[in-house]
Amino acid sequence: MKRSLLALSIFLITGSMASEALANPRLLDIRHWSAPEHTRVVIDLSGTPTYEVPPPVDPLILTVILRKVIPPRRSQEISVNDRVIRKIRVAPMPKEGAEVTLSLVKTARWNVFALKPYLDKPDRVVIDVARPDLEEKEKAERQISQKLKAEKTRIIVIDPGHGGEDPGAVGRRRTLEKDIVLALARKLQKALDEGGEVRAFLTRRGDYFVSLEDRIKIAQEYGADLLISLHTNGSPKRQARGTSVYCLSLQGASDKAAQLVAQKENAADMVGGTSLVPTQKDLDSILLDLEQTHTINESLHLGGLMLSELGRVNPIQFSRPRQAGFTVLKAPSIPSVLVETAYITNPAEEKSLQKEGFQRDLTRAIMAALKKFLPLLAVKEEGTGMEQIKGKGRGTGG
Ligand SMILES: [Zn+2]
Repeated sequence: MKRSLLALSIFLITGSMASEALANPRLLDIRHWSAPEHTRVVIDLSGTPTYEVPPPVDPLILTVILRKVIPPRRSQEISVNDRVIRKIRVAPMPKEGAEVTLSLVKTARWNVFALKPYLDKPDRVVIDVARPDLEEKEKAERQISQKLKAEKTRIIVIDPGHGGEDPGAVGRRRTLEKDIVLALARKLQKALDEGGEVRAFLTRRGDYFVSLEDRIKIAQEYGADLLISLHTNGSPKRQARGTSVYCLSLQGASDKAAQLVAQKENAADMVGGTSLVPTQKDLDSILLDLEQTHTINESLHLGGLMLSELGRVNPIQFSRPRQAGFTVLKAPSIPSVLVETAYITNPAEEKSLQKEGFQRDLTRAIMAALKKFLPLLAVKEEGTGMEQIKGKGRGTGG
């Protein structure tokens, strides 16, 4: 009985594989996202793609050939007109296939890769095109922080979660986490800059995807004294509500719920795929460093201050920050907290999150916490605590 069932299932698997092979995937959609220095083009397909990138004849034309796809009925042009790409052209190919041509503004480097279906996303071919000259410009702009540092101005990097391909959590009225947290981040940046004592910068300034490790890299390039990652929570339970703050953990999550939140936030890279920029090597090996323990203790302190301020704006889920392995919080020496401002999946909180007043209240609460925290940071650095910890060296943590 067992054997015949197995035989039947093998037959079914090969049968379905054969019919899938017969039906070539169809082009579903072409989308694009503009970042300051690169543009991402995403081709959605109904099945696993076969693609190739022939060596370019013209440096300003990038061609990607999709083989074994149902050819589109006619050619189509999409104008992009950003700093990297002028237009995208999709044309049917004589046999089965399609040709996707990108007209570039200036010479660029590119990376083409496939992404498997994930959540509601189908099979995708991703074309990342970056202009090295603009990348250099971005990097140079981040150097402004060195001048600020010399003047002892504190630098706060605000990280609006998700973006581009990755909408984050989605509310019942289709409010997107990526939009809310960008609006919040901009408000917080403006308010902090107006205060004059600190300068704030963002890890993303528009609707585009930034990998979690790139967010850390950007914070490091800015010479961040602090990183605040802004999110809205999501849950299949519509009644789930409240504000929470998370910090990094070196020894696994503080509880199951915190672990789930970290899994959800870390999935951003699965939704958006890898980045153009080579990723920072071996972040985990640094985790054993005692310096990181010190950084986490500072993060927990800041997180606690934030919770008591945020509690005046919205009910808090836990009185103390919870801990788990959040990738975006792994900068070894930058105190980093992740704020789940409210549940976008809770109808009442979704409504609040859309309101200017609520966003402003959240901003004020975070600023009030920072006001209490920043002087402590200075005292700690000037005191002996840090040196003592550093002096003990590596190897006993974790
Ligand atoms: Zn999020």
